[in-house]
Amino acid sequence: AKAAGKNQAYVFTPRLRIEQAGRSSLTEGLRHAVARDELEVRYQPVVDLDSGEMLAVEALLRWHPVGGLVMPDRFIPVAEDTGLIIPIGAHVLQRACADARPWYERHGVAVHVNISGHQLRRPDVVDTVLEALHSSGLPGEALVLEITETALLATGRDEAAPAIAHLATLREHGIRAAIDDFGTGYSSLSYLRDLPVDIVKIDGAFTRIAAETGEEARRRRALAGAIVDLCASLDLTAVAEQVETQEEAEALRALGCPQGQGYLFGRPVPREEIDGLLDSATVA
Ligand code: C2E
Ligand code: CA
Ligand code: CA
Ligand code: CA
Repeated sequence: AKAAGKNQAYVFTPRLRIEQAGRSSLTEGLRHAVARDELEVRYQPVVDLDSGEMLAVEALLRWHPVGGLVMPDRFIPVAEDTGLIIPIGAHVLQRACADARPWYERHGVAVHVNISGHQLRRPDVVDTVLEALHSSGLPGEALVLEITETALLATGRDEAAPAIAHLATLREHGIRAAIDDFGTGYSSLSYLRDLPVDIVKIDGAFTRIAAETGEEARRRRALAGAIVDLCASLDLTAVAEQVETQEEAEALRALGCPQGQGYLFGRPVPREEIDGLLDSATVA
């Protein structure tokens, strides 16, 4: 046992140290990212699956430290652990609301912003969101907050309660909420009925399933269809994520899914490209 313990320490310590060094330099860089203007918000279209029309955009964060690009899957967890998600999240809200105002005024296009559980549990989240609306002039109806079911519920009912209460307060100001990555976490369908949400973003895994063919896939497809039907019967708008092919878009439409998002319709792009897409749609 002693030898095994020694061996374990020898094998695992260096890797752990590298991992920690990586995290602490990320933290150090991230601490100055807002002030140094290294954060960029990109926008990906959410479309009507029947007409292809752009109905909304999702704000997706990119970090450009000197000479690099870091994706959110890498730095958002660090930002959450260190509390830096609070200033960063407030910055994203400000930026996204300001960028979206002309899109909403001229084209009725709403903006979705991702919110982490840490942000949503804090009592000042309501003020932070309302301040972003106020300073940008964007109406509450034009803003959707996206939150994963895990972030909302995984910590247990007691910790979930403030987050749910804050969503309910924000809803009084017209702001809508979306459950993100639906189907990957708790997947308890009954809670959908009880939460103050308006939109369900169905995880990309179901987009793949919807387009599968053959007899063995029949039951999996039925599950994807049942989720779409459940959303409709609860008056929740379903948005299929990660739609990459025409076959997937058609299969989802056949299941009755009203909205979709994914590389087929457009990648996350800088603000100016959304301007261009909306202007050309008006001219055509
Ligand atoms: P998410 O909210 O589920 O965002 C969708 C992710 O799917 C994005 O990754 C997007 O680029 C990617 N995606 C879109 N269409 C397709 C497709 O057709 N195929 C594939 N394979 N992928 C597609 P991204 O931008 O790397 O963001 C990753 C995650 O980071 C987001 O997942 C979200 O959880 C988080 N995140 C991004 N921005 C923010 C933010 O401002 N605040 C917070 N709290 N989290 C953020
Ligand atoms: Ca999202
Ligand atoms: Ca998602
Ligand atoms: Ca995701």
